[in-house]
Amino acid sequence: MTTNKLLLTGIFKPFGVSDEYGEALCTMELLNNQVTREQGIHSPRSNNPSFGLYLIAENVQVPTTVLDFPWWKDFTREVDSGEYTHIGISFIVPNVMKAKRMADYIREKSPKTKILLGGHGTSIPNLEEILTFDDACRGEGVAWMRRYFNEKVDRKIVHPVCPSAVTKFVYGGPIVRDAGIIVTGVGCQNSCRFCATAHKFEKRYTAFLFSGREVFEACEKTEKAMKVTDFALMDENFCKSPRRARQLLEEMTKAGKAYTFATFSSAETIGKLGIDFLVRLGVKFLWIGVESKANVFEKTQGVDLHKLIADLQNHGITVLASAILFMEHHDKESIHEDIDWAISLESDLLQFMEFGPIPGTKLYKDYDAAGKLLKDVPWPKQHGQDEIWFHHPHFTPKETAVYTRNAFIKKFQTHGPGVISMAQTYLKGYLTVQRETTEREAKGLVWNAELLRYVQGGKPGAVDEFMRKRLEAMRESALEFRPILTAAVDHAPNEAAREKAKKVRAAFNETFGAPTVLDRVMSGAVRVLAVSEKIRVMVKGGDVMRQPKTNRVAYPDRTGLDQSADGQRWTHAPGMPLVEDTADVVADITAG
Ligand code: SF4
Repeated sequence: MTTNKLLLTGIFKPFGVSDEYGEALCTMELLNNQVTREQGIHSPRSNNPSFGLYLIAENVQVPTTVLDFPWWKDFTREVDSGEYTHIGISFIVPNVMKAKRMADYIREKSPKTKILLGGHGTSIPNLEEILTFDDACRGEGVAWMRRYFNEKVDRKIVHPVCPSAVTKFVYGGPIVRDAGIIVTGVGCQNSCRFCATAHKFEKRYTAFLFSGREVFEACEKTEKAMKVTDFALMDENFCKSPRRARQLLEEMTKAGKAYTFATFSSAETIGKLGIDFLVRLGVKFLWIGVESKANVFEKTQGVDLHKLIADLQNHGITVLASAILFMEHHDKESIHEDIDWAISLESDLLQFMEFGPIPGTKLYKDYDAAGKLLKDVPWPKQHGQDEIWFHHPHFTPKETAVYTRNAFIKKFQTHGPGVISMAQTYLKGYLTVQRETTEREAKGLVWNAELLRYVQGGKPGAVDEFMRKRLEAMRESALEFRPILTAAVDHAPNEAAREKAKKVRAAFNETFGAPTVLDRVMSGAVRVLAVSEKIRVMVKGGDVMRQPKTNRVAYPDRTGLDQSADGQRWTHAPGMPLVEDTADVVADITAG
């Protein structure tokens, strides 16, 4: 009998270079690629690990190795070892030629090894004409892989410990603070027709962590392993399940842990839960799809986005708004109105993404049927930051590349570096929440977890212990930015941005006191690093790429083990929900 052994790998580096496999604009980063693009040394840089691979590896019994950010030689060494009966390659659409090179190598050197494909790249039509493979996972990966290896599908999910980002730097200096990632679920029930995520997961939500207790346990586990209290909650709309979000707050309150979170939310969901709840929960960064002034999506209809974003920022929640360019209603006049409108929202960060028919989406099917897709645009060029790959009645592809770049430049010139806006928001929020907490304590107002608001009921003057912990976490979030403030002044793109950075620096001094010796040393170091980074950028004539380190993790062989054989990791704690309880979360989402 053959013993199965699985390798799960991401695509090989280098990233962010133009070669026969990829594009320089595809840096495998999030912020620098499509949010703080055109902000030069002010742009925070980082790579996000392939979370899905770790999640799958942790949740199958077949012995598995994860290889993340490999060099070509790291990958070929694994294949040449002859150990693997199965190799899974995860890739996005623009990286399909890298996946092809990897698949070709496996077929040549290890012909008996089965090639499995996963990730958004599997939506490419007629994929088998591009590369060789044996099977492809086109939906949720954990259940698919368990089914593939004939394992029990509905075992409880074991959450991996994983950082949310690696290779983090800004102004040429390292970003020291780490955060963990918690993947609470995938997919979205809203079915915006352009959305790759919604379509990949069949327009439904699949929860991995069903209750607030489970989310809290995943945070605690990550805190212990990584010594972090800050987390990215990977979920298209975490707060759309109010029950789970409320339970998470209850668990944190009981344990006295004021964790902080970055997550995604639709505008309508925020309104339903209220900002007091989000602040208490510890949400400090929200990604909101604002898409277009034209309000063409249900999720933004009836929401005053200017007011909502200002309210969130006043309470210390930084906002990344994302807008779409070259939609069907855009012409050469209305596109400028939309860009100006998106900038006028004054979000801390702003993504401009090109409207793009991505394989697998309804938009792709519609455009394909209507003959609107341009022929012969290579897949590596279909990433939404350069030229569009469909016929638009008012824009040529070449024009779209220029409009997109200019939109980022306009945001940068109007509001200055995103990191300064974030520093301003964290500081402003700390002051607002401090004042509000003090006022509520004086009046004897206490948090009502049912009503999700503060009500009369406490002794005037009694301290809200949990909010005092929350304030300390908010203070730390603001102070993280102190070392970069002077470098932002030094390299500001214009006078307005310089004044803004100076004001923020002065407000920090007023709030937290004069910089300590350590603050001055750190600030001085960042200034030196910023100058050398600027020289590097000038010499190179573009972004400086730092390739992430290869990460190889071997998971144990659990084949044939009873679910209880590996202690807690494989048991269902009494009363813990199984997969069928997805229905509960979905019902909660629908009701919410
Ligand atoms: S709400 Fe966001 S995640 Fe959901 S379908 Fe629309 S774009 Fe996608």
